[in-house]
Amino acid sequence: MQHNGRIYLSAPHMSGKEQTYIQEAFDTNWVAPLGPNVDAFETEIAAYAGVAGAVALSSGTAAIHLALELLEVGRGDRVFCSTLTFIASANPILYQGAEPVFIDSEPDTWNMSPEALELALDEAARAGKLPKAVVVVHLYGQSAKMDRISDLCARYEVPIVEDAAESLGSTYRGTKSGSMGQFGIYSFNGNKIITTSGGGMLISNDVQALAKARFLATQARDPALHYQHSVMGYNYRMSNLLAGVGRAQLEVLDERVEARRAIFETYRDAFGNHRGVRFMPELADTRSNRWLTTLTIDKQETGLNIPDLIGELSAHNIEARPVWKPLHLQPLFQGVRYYPHEDGTSTSDRLFEEGVCLPSGSGMNRSEQNRVISIVNEALSTATANV
Ligand SMILES: *Cc1c(COP(=O)(O)O)cnc(C)c1O
Repeated sequence: MQHNGRIYLSAPHMSGKEQTYIQEAFDTNWVAPLGPNVDAFETEIAAYAGVAGAVALSSGTAAIHLALELLEVGRGDRVFCSTLTFIASANPILYQGAEPVFIDSEPDTWNMSPEALELALDEAARAGKLPKAVVVVHLYGQSAKMDRISDLCARYEVPIVEDAAESLGSTYRGTKSGSMGQFGIYSFNGNKIITTSGGGMLISNDVQALAKARFLATQARDPALHYQHSVMGYNYRMSNLLAGVGRAQLEVLDERVEARRAIFETYRDAFGNHRGVRFMPELADTRSNRWLTTLTIDKQETGLNIPDLIGELSAHNIEARPVWKPLHLQPLFQGVRYYPHEDGTSTSDRLFEEGVCLPSGSGMNRSEQNRVISIVNEALSTATANV
């Protein structure tokens, strides 16, 4: 779990069965290219998510890229995207030569504001420039308000890509996160709730589109004896070895969700009642995987600012991070269109300033968590004494 006693934000947590699947692949020489682990992992993920099919890929970013390609996002098109997210949600918009438009968060979920989305869609419709897709992110495992977002997108017939990279195992009104859009994507990057060391998955109920995704992800090779290509493709498939790791990880996903939720509750019990400290809420009728425990600390009320807290934790060999820097604030996206939740105030800017992610790995033990808690409590009481 740890290297030199360091506590990480979200370290990989193996189940122990990964070796069995990898050994099987070696024994049958299914080391490459594709193979039974890839097929089985796809079937198992699709069954878990409750969708018709899945395509195993080299990363979550690749999955978003293929989703946009399948939706025929091209040069000059617009794509709406949550602003409070990791850069990978939006980079594929640039790969396609399209223009991102960023949508603010709302306070209930920290996710895409239906109000801001409605305004953006109304304006786009009037300008005759509706987006080709909306990329909705479920931040840190928390579900966005999918009913309202789906209704709005349906009204304008704009397809949804659900970036569920952080929310595998979360549910929205009993439905699995990632299964509600035209396409959903998962990531198995090393820091996610389950990992293949690196990998991703594209899921959908549109099996024809998924067949095309498989074709595009294997260099778009035409059915011919020789190597023939009519369209541009990618090398985006997951290896059969890594799919074996994924299968073993998927078997323990629900346990990992329970463990992360328990970690969240332990932190909340420890300092959730402190003045000016607010934990990320959980939307009614949804269940977050609590991928990362995330909270805001009001500087005025507590006297504590986030960089100081992170510095204090770091001095004690503990990794913590600010909340994602909103994409509309990134130098890469200078000058792009942005729709705040409320006129004149940006919710995501505030969450970025006040938000912090604490170590949340499911392999963390109680004494490690207590180490984190004692540093945070100490920082809070020292700062509060000086307010
Ligand atoms: C991790 C992540 C991705 C990208 O996944 P990779 O597998 O690392 O390419 C996309 N979106 C979000 C919100 C993520 O957190």
